[in-house]
Amino acid sequence: MEVILAEHAGFCFGVQRAVDTVYEQIGNREKEGRPIYTFGPIIHNEEVVDDLEKRGVRVLDSLADACAVPEGERGTVIIRSHGVEKSVCESLKELGFDVVDATCPFVKRIHNIVEKESLVGKSIVIVGNAGHPEVEGIKGWSAAATYIVESVEEAKNLVLRPEEELCIVSQTTFNYKKFQDVVEIFGERGYNGSVVNTVCNATEVRQAEARELAARVDVMIVIGGTHSSNTKKLYEICRQECEMTYYIQTLDDLHLRLPESVRLVGITAGASTPNNIIEEVQNYVRINF
Ligand code: SF4
Repeated sequence: MEVILAEHAGFCFGVQRAVDTVYEQIGNREKEGRPIYTFGPIIHNEEVVDDLEKRGVRVLDSLADACAVPEGERGTVIIRSHGVEKSVCESLKELGFDVVDATCPFVKRIHNIVEKESLVGKSIVIVGNAGHPEVEGIKGWSAAATYIVESVEEAKNLVLRPEEELCIVSQTTFNYKKFQDVVEIFGERGYNGSVVNTVCNATEVRQAEARELAARVDVMIVIGGTHSSNTKKLYEICRQECEMTYYIQTLDDLHLRLPESVRLVGITAGASTPNNIIEEVQNYVRINF
């Protein structure tokens, strides 16, 4: 029996980079002895966060949390892949923390665009979900009027001055088609300015690959947390293509009895599933079937 692991299973590039940064800092601390914090959980995966906690990495959920850290314990604080507002970085530095910025370079690119364009007087439109930490972070790099719109309706109803020049960007995980639809509305309303496509296709690539793999295997295993919406989506996509699709969180959930006829097993995983879990499942299936 052959086992095929999807190339883009699990962490995307930006999340992997942020998690690696934390482990690197743990290695450095052994030399320097300074405490390590992450600004918000580095990833929405309990196993990873618990493991980091065991290694002494603490989570700061807000600037208030950072202020509450006694001065002598203000060590390194790592910014996660979503990024943060410029003012948050500055405040952390003022409080005496060493800031290690693990903002995904694709998100950082948006910060740079927003800062530059707002400084030349353009109003910023972020197409995305207000309240999402990435969007809040992006907004915090703008020096001009900034609007967040999530739908065509909101774009139609947004109150703007006639002379406003716009720079339109998008949250990285926003659907590209919806982004285009929103952009079109501003065009129809006669607004000038620049549109920068800042959608990251990591999620789409993972889904397209899962669909293609599920269509050619006999059994498909999808690994991810039960609360992970992107894993649920992966499961639905795979189930459409392959009737024998299983959704598991970890190896412990895998109770497979495979028919003799099974020749090919495919594996994919949601965006917050760590590599070690994927490897465990992959090795188990290879060895036991
Ligand atoms: Fe991952 Fe893309 Fe977000 Fe970066 S921008 S963290 S690669 S999904």
